[in-house]
Amino acid sequence: MMQKILVVEDNPTNMKLATAVLEHAGYQVLTAEAASTGIAIARESLPVMILMDIHLPGMDGLEAARRLKADPMTQAIKVVALTAFAMKGDEERIRAAGCDGYIAKPIKYKEFLAQVQSMLDSVSPGQVEQA
Ligand code: MN
Repeated sequence: MMQKILVVEDNPTNMKLATAVLEHAGYQVLTAEAASTGIAIARESLPVMILMDIHLPGMDGLEAARRLKADPMTQAIKVVALTAFAMKGDEERIRAAGCDGYIAKPIKYKEFLAQVQSMLDSVSPGQVEQA
């Protein structure tokens, strides 16, 4: 079965690129242009991972991550922030919001795919408890 990845991104160029890379690699890609829509899709479709832009119109990506991680239904989904600002302090803010990691933009094909795959392979704390 194809693994589902949800991309929440309001920039059409980044969305197109991320979708193309992930689909080419064999993932089923779901998309949302706003955090609230993304949360609704996450609850309905339970993707294995959400790639979450930080700067979104309305609710930002960090608030969306907090809500997803506070909800028992969606808290096991890996949330990876997409950010152009990976400066000192930003990683802490991203982790504090509950994100499992981040990928720095601009998206570069090979690097992006490798980062997504390595984060999918990494065992989450929840999975360790169950083992
Ligand atoms: Mn944005």
